[in-house]
Amino acid sequence: MTLEQTIEEIRARSIFLPYSERGLGIWAPGHSLPAALRQAIKKHQAYLLALVLMGDTRLCPAVQLHRPSWKYVGAGQFICPTCKKLDASMSRQSQGAGA
Ligand SMILES: [Zn+2]
Repeated sequence: MTLEQTIEEIRARSIFLPYSERGLGIWAPGHSLPAALRQAIKKHQAYLLALVLMGDTRLCPAVQLHRPSWKYVGAGQFICPTCKKLDASMSRQSQGAGA
């Protein structure tokens, strides 16, 4: 599975990719993930993590909800500040309070 195909699958299934210091996680409530997709996410995880950290809208799991907050950053690219905020609070939690 190519990176683009993997991103398409992630979008189609509304999969959320939470990250921590241990790397990228996969959160897909109500879905069973094909092994091939799981492997593809692992294979492309460095690039997917970079996209998640940027708040790339291609990996926004809640387009309907978050779209009003999207910001245009130039070169045909949008970021999702809502996802970035969620990611920041999740990574703070995983590091423990007061760290
Ligand atoms: Zn979002």
